[in-house]
Amino acid sequence: MKEFGFELRVCAWAERNWPPEGDREAVVVGRQLGTERRRWDTVVVETTERALAERAPFGAQRLGSDLLHVARNAPASWAYYRDALPDPGYPWRYVREAVHRAAERGFVETRRRSNRIELRRRYRYPAWVDRIVAIENKPDLDAAAARVLAEQLEHDVAVGLADEVWLATRASGGGIEPALLEAMPVEAGVLSVSEDGERTTVEPVWYPRSLAVENAGTRILERPSGGSEDRSAARFEYADPGWKGEKRTEIAERAYERGWRSYADTMRPDCRHFELRDPAGPFPWCVSKGREQTAAECSADCPAFEPEPPAWRARGWPIEGGPGKASKRLLEAKRERRR
Ligand code: SF4
Repeated sequence: MKEFGFELRVCAWAERNWPPEGDREAVVVGRQLGTERRRWDTVVVETTERALAERAPFGAQRLGSDLLHVARNAPASWAYYRDALPDPGYPWRYVREAVHRAAERGFVETRRRSNRIELRRRYRYPAWVDRIVAIENKPDLDAAAARVLAEQLEHDVAVGLADEVWLATRASGGGIEPALLEAMPVEAGVLSVSEDGERTTVEPVWYPRSLAVENAGTRILERPSGGSEDRSAARFEYADPGWKGEKRTEIAERAYERGWRSYADTMRPDCRHFELRDPAGPFPWCVSKGREQTAAECSADCPAFEPEPPAWRARGWPIEGGPGKASKRLLEAKRERRR
C-alpha cells in the first residue's frame, strides 16, 4: 500500500480509537495540516462532545484568523466594532469586512447607528481544543527516511506547537527495526501499523512526552551540516506562545472543516472507474488500475480518466447527479457525523 492509503488508514484508526490508552471523549481528525513551514500528515484534535456542541453554531466552515478575531471578542451587548474589538494590527477595513461575514455566518448581529457599524455576539466562541496531536506517517522506514523524519520530528519537539508528536510506521515481520527507532527523538511516540487483509491494527511501541505548548518554542531555521570543515552555528528563532495559540486554533479549525475524508475534493469521483470501498473508510478504489489510487494519480492528468456515462445520471440518480456526486455526498455525510 502506498503512503496515501496508509495515511487514510491511520486517520480512520485515529478517528475510531484515539487515544491509544486512556478514556476517549471526542476527536476531530484532519490530514495535511500545519503551518506555512511544516505540514503534518495526520492531525488529531482532542476535544469533548460538549465543546463540539458549543462550536457547532459557528458553522461547518472553518473560522480563519480574521473571523476568529471577531468571534472571540464580539461583545454581549451592542457596541461600535472599533471600540469592542482589539486593534488587530492590520487595517480596520478588513475587520469591518470580517464583521459583515460573521453576521452572514450568523454568529454575530450587526446594526448601523449614525453611520457606525455596531455588533453584538449571538454565541460565545468556545475554547474547544484540548490537545493537538501530530502524526507523521512513513510506512516504509529505511535509514534515509529515518534521518529525514528524525530531523522533522526534532523541529516539532523544539517548536512545541502540537502537544504530542508521533511517527506511524509499518511493522514488517519481526516488527520495526530498533536502530531506525533509536534515531528518533525520545520525545516522539511511535505507532506500529500492521495490515492483515482489510484489517489495520495500530499499536503504540513508544509513548511520547507531552510538549510545552504554553511556553515559547524554538524554530530551527538552519543547522550545520556537521562535516569536519563546518564551523557554522545553527540559526534559531523563537515561536512565542501567542503565535502558537493562534496557530493551534487555526489548525484545529481547518481540521474541523475538512476532516480527513476531504481527499475526494482533489480526486476524480466523476470518473467511471472511481469507487469507494471499505465501510471503515471508505477508501478510494480505481477499477481501471485494480487497486487503490493515490490522490496525485487520480487527477485531471490521469490518462485512464473516463467521465461517468450520462446514462448513469439518468438512471437512479435523476436529481442528485451521478455516482461521483453520490460518493462525495457519502464522504460529506460521514464528515458531518464527526462534527
Ligand atoms: S482512472 Fe484515473 S481518474 Fe479514473 S478513478 Fe482511476 S485514477 Fe482516478
